[in-house]
Amino acid sequence: MYKKLFYENVYLKNFSANIMEVKNEGNSFHLVLDKTCFYPEGGGQPSDMGFIENIPVKYVYIEDNKVYHVVNSLPSKEDKLNCAIDWPRRFDFMQQHTGQHILSACIDKLYSGKTVGFHLSKDYTTIDITTQNLKDEHIKRIEQLANEIVFANLIIKQFYPDSHTLKELPLRKVPSVDENIRVVSIDSFDHSPCGGTHVSRTGEVGLIKIKTYEKTRGKTRLEFVCGNRAYNDYLIKNDQINNLSTLLSVKDSQVYEAVERIHNVNNSNKKEINKLQCELIFYEGEKLYNECTPNGNYKIIRKIFEDKDFQNLRTLGLNLCSKNNVIALLGTKKDKAQFILALSKNISHINMKDIVNGLRSRVTINGGGNNHVCQGGVNSIDDLGLLLSLVYDEVQK
Ligand SMILES: [Zn+2]
Repeated sequence: MYKKLFYENVYLKNFSANIMEVKNEGNSFHLVLDKTCFYPEGGGQPSDMGFIENIPVKYVYIEDNKVYHVVNSLPSKEDKLNCAIDWPRRFDFMQQHTGQHILSACIDKLYSGKTVGFHLSKDYTTIDITTQNLKDEHIKRIEQLANEIVFANLIIKQFYPDSHTLKELPLRKVPSVDENIRVVSIDSFDHSPCGGTHVSRTGEVGLIKIKTYEKTRGKTRLEFVCGNRAYNDYLIKNDQINNLSTLLSVKDSQVYEAVERIHNVNNSNKKEINKLQCELIFYEGEKLYNECTPNGNYKIIRKIFEDKDFQNLRTLGLNLCSKNNVIALLGTKKDKAQFILALSKNISHINMKDIVNGLRSRVTINGGGNNHVCQGGVNSIDDLGLLLSLVYDEVQK
C-alpha cells in the first residue's frame, strides 16, 4: 500500500521516499514511490509539481490507485529520496479549491443553485451552476455570505466517515464513488464529498471575489479569485485606478464618470470632425472644379493627394462627378496607394470599367467597379501615377 501523505497532512511540503516502480514512457519516466505528498490531478484540481531530488516533477496522476510522478530523468539512487512539492502552487490551489466549496455552498443555500462544473487552473477558476436568473444583487449577496464564512474562520475537516456518520451527514452533492468516501466539512455549514486538498480553516482562504459571471448553455458560469490571487488582482486594479485617477485628476471613486465624460466628448468630436471634413471636401471640390481648364467638352481633374484617407477621396470624386461633364481621376498615398476613377452621369460614351480592365495587363489593380465609377488600390505610388496617367490618355481618345 502506497501512502498518500497529502491526505494525512495537507500541509506537508517535504518528505523522503523510495522508488517502488518505474514506467518508461517515451522520453519520460513515471515513478511510483512508497509514499507521496504530490497530489495527482483529479476532482477539478491540477496536479502538484515540485522536485524528486533535484529532478523537476512535471505532472502527477493516479492510475489503479497508484500515484505516478512524471520526470524527464531518473534520480541517481532509488532510496531515501528527498522530495518537495511546489508549495506556493499547492497552497494557491488549496485556497481556490476551498473557496469553491464555500461559494458553491452559499449559492446552494441562498438560491438553491447546484454546482455542476468546476475548473481550476494556474490562471483562472470557474464554477458552473444550474441557476440561470442571477443578477448583480444576487452575486453580491453570495460574495458577502462567502466572505462572512471566511472571516468566521470555521474549522474544515477532511475525513472518511463510517457508514453511519455518512448517512447522518447532509451532503450537498451525491458522492461520485461508492466506498472510501472522503468528506470535506466546513463546520456545520457545508458537507461535501471531495478528494481534493483544502485548507484547515476558512480564514486561510482569504478574500473571495467573484470577478465576472455569464450565462452559458443553460447555466451560469462564475469566475472567482481567492486569497493570494484576490490580493494580486487587487494590486493590478488598484494600480490601474490610481494611474487613471492621476491622469484624469479625479478621485479614484470618480474615475468611471470621468472616463465616460471623455468618451462622450470624443464621440461628439468625431461627429463634428466628420461634418467639417464633409464641408471641407465640398469646398475643395469646388476649388478643383473652378481651377480646372476644360479639355474639349470635359473637365478632367487628375490629382494624387498625400494625406487624404480613402473615404474622403471617394467623397471628393463623387462630389465632383455630381456636376455634368467631369472626369475625376484621383489617388491618395496616405496609408497605401488607392484610387477612384469617376465619370459624371451624363457621360455615356466612356466606359470606366472597360478602361480599367484594359489596363490590368500593364498595372496590377486590386479593385474594380461599374461603367461610371471604379475604385481600389495598386501596389506602389509609382503604379498609382502610371495608372492615372494611362486612364487620362484613354479618356481623351
Ligand atoms: Zn474539494
